[in-house]
Amino acid sequence: MKALVYVAPQRVEVQNIPEPALGDGQVLLQVSAAGICGSDIHGFQGHSARRQPGLVMGHETVATIGEVHPGVQGWRTSQRVCFNPLVSCGTCGACRAQRENLCADWRIFGMDRVQGTFAERIAVPAGQLHALPESLPEAEAIFVEPVAVMVHAFRIAIDSVPETLAIVGAGTMGALAVVLAKLHGAPRVCVVDTNDERLAAARKLGADLAINNAREDAVRTVRSWSGGGGVEQVIEAVGIQATRRAAVAMAARGARLLFLGLGENESSLPWVDMVRNEQAVFTSFAYAKRDFTAAVGLVAARRFDLKAWTETRPLEDGQAAFAKMANAPGATLKMMLKV
Ligand SMILES: [Zn+2]
Ligand SMILES: [Zn+2]
Repeated sequence: MKALVYVAPQRVEVQNIPEPALGDGQVLLQVSAAGICGSDIHGFQGHSARRQPGLVMGHETVATIGEVHPGVQGWRTSQRVCFNPLVSCGTCGACRAQRENLCADWRIFGMDRVQGTFAERIAVPAGQLHALPESLPEAEAIFVEPVAVMVHAFRIAIDSVPETLAIVGAGTMGALAVVLAKLHGAPRVCVVDTNDERLAAARKLGADLAINNAREDAVRTVRSWSGGGGVEQVIEAVGIQATRRAAVAMAARGARLLFLGLGENESSLPWVDMVRNEQAVFTSFAYAKRDFTAAVGLVAARRFDLKAWTETRPLEDGQAAFAKMANAPGATLKMMLKV
């Protein structure tokens, strides 16, 4: 079958690879579209130790069921589905506490040696499947997995709706943070990025203020927009030292800071100031099963629409699609490969 294989840094190509075997408890999916995630782009750039050449990446998927292993109940061929690509052991302490994202043995499709969904077919455990409405446009359904990341982030780090919220980074995660903040009723949301097209998208999605920090001092602008004292909550969705420090500097005394950007491992922060200001630091990673289920419900309910910033290309254009998202994504928040 056809698959897009990561062959070297900055290089993916369509190859013919063996068909997946359908194991016990599994369902064979016919992939219809797969989204390029920020983590796949890291892999493409050669920055991910867990994505080595020879790997088929991809874990954001819209598919139909091609075959159901005998013994699997509740699913039928031709049914439209997506699946939770984070597979956990189900028995460790984290899994028993419903924190599957912290499972000692978590795996995700399209990473390490687990083949992903930039491929015609994939076999997945039936327990990972979620039905999708037939009427849901593919360009909306593709957002289930990234929405799950943001649903999780909000669940663990935002206990009440803040009066003022700053979002640092207007990529897919930043845009979805705007969407969820507005769905939660946050009255004042501002967004910081260096990409004007993505800032314009954030405004259309409901952000009250968009700041290009290549042109102006974002910390000063955010602080004065907040009334001078800084914002009550910051979501940092880039993950490099400059943006992590900016997030801290724009936050009020007693603010909550949520860090989910995975840009670089180590950053220096003004810890004494943060201690004196009692700023609460939260981090969030991926999602638990219940977040994924909630994300399916949210996307299926069609409460928001990012189709205008979703680009579709055939799998054969994988190289150009990856290069665009790595180098100059412009207004595109989600690149979707049609399989
Ligand atoms: Zn992803
Ligand atoms: Zn586990």
